Amino acid sequence: MSEFSLNNEHLREYERRLIIDIRKGLNRQSHNNSIVKCFITYIQDLPTGQETGTFLAVDLGGTNFRVLMVELDGKEKLKMTTMQFAVPQEKMLGSGHDLFDFLAQCISIFAEKHNLKSTNIVYSMGFTFSFPLVQKSLNKALIDRWTKGFNCTDVIGKDVVKLLQEALRAIGIKNIKIKVVLNDTAGTLISGAWKNSACRIGLIVGTGTNVCYMEKQSNAQLFDLENKGSGNVLINTEWGAFGDDGTLDFIRNKYDFELDDHTINPGLQLHEKMISGMYMGELVRIIIEKAVKNNALFGGKGSTALFTRNRFFTEYVSKIEAQKKFKHETCMYIFAELGIPHVTPDDCINVRYICESVSTRAAHMLAAGICGIIRQMGEKNLAIGIDGSVYIHHPNVHKLITEKIQELVMPGVEFKLILSEDGSGRGAALAAAVAAKYERKTLI
Ligand code: BGC
Ligand code: MG
Repeated sequence: MSEFSLNNEHLREYERRLIIDIRKGLNRQSHNNSIVKCFITYIQDLPTGQETGTFLAVDLGGTNFRVLMVELDGKEKLKMTTMQFAVPQEKMLGSGHDLFDFLAQCISIFAEKHNLKSTNIVYSMGFTFSFPLVQKSLNKALIDRWTKGFNCTDVIGKDVVKLLQEALRAIGIKNIKIKVVLNDTAGTLISGAWKNSACRIGLIVGTGTNVCYMEKQSNAQLFDLENKGSGNVLINTEWGAFGDDGTLDFIRNKYDFELDDHTINPGLQLHEKMISGMYMGELVRIIIEKAVKNNALFGGKGSTALFTRNRFFTEYVSKIEAQKKFKHETCMYIFAELGIPHVTPDDCINVRYICESVSTRAAHMLAAGICGIIRQMGEKNLAIGIDGSVYIHHPNVHKLITEKIQELVMPGVEFKLILSEDGSGRGAALAAAVAAKYERKTLI
């Protein structure tokens, strides 16, 4: 497993390269050819906790599509009603039209259930779309490319807001207006800021990984609004693509290469593939398969399930590492389910070590990445809002990230990692609330 252990020198080099790529993304001349895109958003103002009203939100990004209704009382309290729909794989890989029609149908079910249809109230909606977007305004954004398990046809370059708004209209829903479209990292930052005003970075460690942060408008060369607002602008880095030009090959190993070869987007999102939940379990599985074939695990006996791609879920990694040291029931249970009934305590110790090596590498990269962002921002005191299945369910990732940031960060920086619970969902509703506030202001 030594190939998975990154020392601080590796991590500092990784951080240095990340900052270079972030600056390429921000720069007008180099943006088009940059790997880490650093897309500008039009989000300048963060919620204050004093927003009021009822807002809708939808969240598309991982394996589920969620519809939410959020009622804000203006005193940092909110009431949230949600519904969750699994997105069938044929919709993830089918036509864009079918996908957006499916989303509209889900919204319709929600609207029906909560009696939103038979009123003349017009609801403002925030749309979290967790894929790379070229933002044109607060509610206009073109799909740049798909990531994770999605690859729909005919929609690259199209405006996601228009696609969803038209799909809603096509099924007769006219009283929902999409006011803002945002990335899940942005939702996470916004939702974090609603609770903690020092929140300046939003990080997702879920199916995919990405980070956004507040940048000075003077550094964001593509920011073109006259209105300078707060003087800052939220940057969606899309750091999942970091390394797609070979920049990370100095730390990628043969398992990373094998994993990538069998994905639907080989050569792309290479940083994400070393870190996030869509891939972590598969990385562990590939290592275990090698070990079994080298007679180093399970007495050299594998199973069809164990040798099937993507059959070892990231959730297993979390569960195995969550066991008390020298307790092996969970591990034995998981492998029994995978068709390996005879697992010894030694096997379990080895499997746990494999899991720890993979998740620790991910956490250390995340820590070094965050340090790079903090350095770029020049902030001395800030909170980082985090959301995502790996961050939430993995027992050690939070601690590993925190400790490593402490080791690597510039002296004098005070930071705090805060769970931005359900950031991608309620962040969108909060963003819609801020947009509504702004609209009211301009009307006056
Ligand atoms: C997407 C990002 C998203 C991240 C986390 C990545 O694959 O490109 O837009 O923020 O996943 O969901
Ligand atoms: Mg999400």
